[in-house]
Amino acid sequence: MSGTETKPPMKPTDVDVLIIGAGPAGAMAAAQLQRGGFKLLVVEKQTFPRFVIGESLLPHTMDLLKEVGLLEVVEKCDFMKKTGAVFMRGNQVCNFDFANQSGAGWSYTYQVPRAEFDKAVADAVQARGVDFRYGHSVAAVNFSDAHAEVALDQPDGTQRKVTARFVLDCSGYGRVLPRLLDLEAPSKYPVRESLFTHVTGDVRPPEREQGKIWVCVHPGGAWIWIIPFSNGHTSVGVVATPEFFAHFPGEPAEQLRAIVMSDPNAAARLADMQFVFPPQRIKGYACSVKKFFGPQFALAGNATEFLDPVFSSGVTLAMESGLRAAQVLTRQLQGQPVDWQTEYADHVMQGVNTFRAYVSAWYDDRLPTILFASQRNPDIMRQICSVLAGYVWDKSNPYVTQADRALGLLAKISGTMARAATD
Ligand SMILES: Cc1cc2nc3c(=O)[nH]c(=O)nc-3n(C[C@H](O)[C@H](O)[C@H](O)COP(=O)(O)OP(=O)(O)OC[C@H]3O[C@@H](n4cnc5c(N)ncnc54)[C@H](O)[C@@H]3O)c2cc1C
Repeated sequence: MSGTETKPPMKPTDVDVLIIGAGPAGAMAAAQLQRGGFKLLVVEKQTFPRFVIGESLLPHTMDLLKEVGLLEVVEKCDFMKKTGAVFMRGNQVCNFDFANQSGAGWSYTYQVPRAEFDKAVADAVQARGVDFRYGHSVAAVNFSDAHAEVALDQPDGTQRKVTARFVLDCSGYGRVLPRLLDLEAPSKYPVRESLFTHVTGDVRPPEREQGKIWVCVHPGGAWIWIIPFSNGHTSVGVVATPEFFAHFPGEPAEQLRAIVMSDPNAAARLADMQFVFPPQRIKGYACSVKKFFGPQFALAGNATEFLDPVFSSGVTLAMESGLRAAQVLTRQLQGQPVDWQTEYADHVMQGVNTFRAYVSAWYDDRLPTILFASQRNPDIMRQICSVLAGYVWDKSNPYVTQADRALGLLAKISGTMARAATD
């Protein structure tokens, strides 16, 4: 056969990119791709507003929202300003203010009820002309040389098929393509679970301290988050191993109340708390994947890897990956050469791995040793503050580039000093 083989004409595709999920990763990707003039379809299983956990943002999200022209939308929402993070263990306190970073990052961000935040962002992207279909769930995806064929379950119970040049999976905990394409990989973290709700009756600290997240280390080994919202409600949650929860028998509401009341710092603030809705539980949320992309697909946000909620990194990583995937995809669809591994996967993993070093150091006690030391080096604390603000791609910060080693050394020094002080 000659080399001039003729291929059958390509079936015209319905859309250039089909995005699964309208959470932070999907909305961010849609906002960026819309600028390239592509035909997009965002399919979302639920109807918005919908509840999802993950309410404390990091300052780096402000850069990301600004980059796609969505910051103004969020600024108008009147969310609670988050100016830092306070870690507490008994009478030990480590108070980070985002104004004290080593880099030139944003000095604040927001505490957001996700139902409102995700809807505001998605609506703004939809208003730019992007086709959003709520109540549509991706049931199957078949890839051929020319396109991907996606089967959608529609709200009326019927199924429709859509063809797309590329599928971007931003389905979060739905993990659509990891499940369908057997991309799931086990997380390296032990199983932890979380019990959470929103409450009223939170006695908040005054002024600039009001909007900070509190992370309280419970005497029994769990940790508790306290995230205040501008609507008067406060998000309260506990993260622990199943063994820890087993020490608190009863219904979830009794369990949560008993755990909160047995931590001195949380109890002082939440003594009068009333639950806004019955506490909910999520188990074994840490996840990972074998790969982030293939010839006609990529994964972003929680559909890739989720570590742990302790540093509120999830939405930041979801937005960064959604934006980055859309930037690489834009050039691919324009016919330019792209390298998904170096330009996308390696970049996302740089951020994930930096947070991973901090999560590991949190649970093996190196980070608490550093944070609750009686003497702390202010320059180093500013570098750590930049990481906690989400600037995990800043190559000038040694607490990013050599996070694990730097935290290990610092914990040793802090531990030695603490022992010397008690001798
Ligand atoms: C206990 C806990 C506490 C957390 N706290 C924080 C925090 O304080 N700050 C923070 O930044 N992060 C936090 N996170 C992480 C945060 O929840 C996630 O990282 C974030 O929501 C990921 O965004 P996403 O866009 O990837 O996915 P999501 O926000 O989950 O959005 C995915 C969307 O895809 C849709 N979808 C799913 N399946 C399908 C389908 N088949 N078809 C169509 N649509 C589909 C879903 O309905 C959903 O709306 C926390 C996580 C846990 C478990």
